[in-house]
Amino acid sequence: MIRRDAGPTVVVGGGIIGLSIAYELVRRGRTPVVLDATPRGETGETATRVAAGMLAPASEADDEPAAVVALGRDSLARYPAFVGAVERDSERSCGYRDDGTLWIAVNRDEDAELERLMRAQARHGLDVRKLDAAAVRDLEPHVTPRAVGGMLAPGDHSVDPRRLAEALALAVRRGGGTIHAGWCVDRIEPSPVDDAGWRVGGTEGGWRNSVDAAEVVVAAGARVTAAIEWIGASPGCEVRPVRGEVVRLRGAPLVERSIRTPRIYLVPRTDGELVIGATTEERGFDADPTAGGTMDLLRHAFVAVPGVYDLVFAEVSAGWRPATVDHIPVIDRLAPGLFAAIGHYRNGILLAPATAQLLAEFVVGGERPPALERFAVDRFRSEGGNP
Ligand SMILES: Cc1cc2nc3c(=O)[nH]c(=O)nc-3n(C[C@H](O)[C@H](O)[C@H](O)COP(=O)(O)OP(=O)(O)OC[C@H]3O[C@@H](n4cnc5c(N)ncnc54)[C@H](O)[C@@H]3O)c2cc1C
Repeated sequence: MIRRDAGPTVVVGGGIIGLSIAYELVRRGRTPVVLDATPRGETGETATRVAAGMLAPASEADDEPAAVVALGRDSLARYPAFVGAVERDSERSCGYRDDGTLWIAVNRDEDAELERLMRAQARHGLDVRKLDAAAVRDLEPHVTPRAVGGMLAPGDHSVDPRRLAEALALAVRRGGGTIHAGWCVDRIEPSPVDDAGWRVGGTEGGWRNSVDAAEVVVAAGARVTAAIEWIGASPGCEVRPVRGEVVRLRGAPLVERSIRTPRIYLVPRTDGELVIGATTEERGFDADPTAGGTMDLLRHAFVAVPGVYDLVFAEVSAGWRPATVDHIPVIDRLAPGLFAAIGHYRNGILLAPATAQLLAEFVVGGERPPALERFAVDRFRSEGGNP
């Protein structure tokens, strides 16, 4: 495709989705400019920083729309090569682990719940195995002796989202891309100087600024509707925040793989951190973690793996999952040269490689990859705003 020279490709948002897209654009010869609202040195309000990093299409198969499960499986298959490339280009580890997920049940009701989950996973053709109590303890000796059964999803992996985001940012810069921190976009409008381009306006360090772009990719997470004029007026791009709290502990490793119960999950990191999550709350943009949320997470974690009692408290944080009306992301071209990758809800870390590679192909090649058809914004427009 012939490149217009109205400016660079601007990516709005430097979370996992925006950075992954910028990285895939760099790999395709572009020099993207990422504008991210979070000021340098601040941790910001990104879902990426809070996320546990489970790459778990099997474990999520029961709750997610079929399109998301299918894209999740596609994305998981891309993960090893994606992480390999990012680690090579950044010379940083992304904390990728392929140890699987062990579901445990501590009573007969939960065991029956696992049977139901297994049937849902079988419908999606996912590899899961039922385990008895002895097999659970053989695999993970620190799991509660009260476990009456379990289920192993060997294909579920995990990654450290903070490390991956840092490595992506480094790889983007090394590849010629630019990342501006503290640049809050509030307006995207057709360029007044170029029929084909866009003007991205906002504030940088408190001052008004603008950038002319050949193409714009909007990947601004949960704030996309609230913060950006034009996109907010675009039917189908309404995104709401679904809050989640997470507790981080540190200490001697207790488990080798992610542990899940019907109530919580525990995800071990290569550096000894144990991430316990997560609450799901409709509370708007309320950032403060609550005593009750923390207490529930720790209580359920203690029931599943009693040894957490002796770990050191490292952090408690809350973030916002970006959710569309139907909980399926919009990964599409909204207008010539204007793209969106938004609404990744509970699976943005998992979906990052597939989203980024498919969208970068779309931006550079001009044709929508067939795998993105289910994520088109038309599904809202055709029936008066409801999918
Ligand atoms: C508690 C919790 C646990 C999770 N666990 C998992 C998990 O285990 N596995 C998984 O796959 N997913 C998980 N998720 C979901 C995942 O974190 C999100 O789907 C994903 O991070 C979305 O990425 P994003 O880049 O779209 O948004 P974000 O990570 O929120 O990033 C958005 C970025 O856009 C920037 N921005 C916002 N507004 C503007 C603006 N106006 N101008 C410029 N920049 C702007 C922000 O500063 C931010 O950097 C979890 C989420 C939560 C909250």
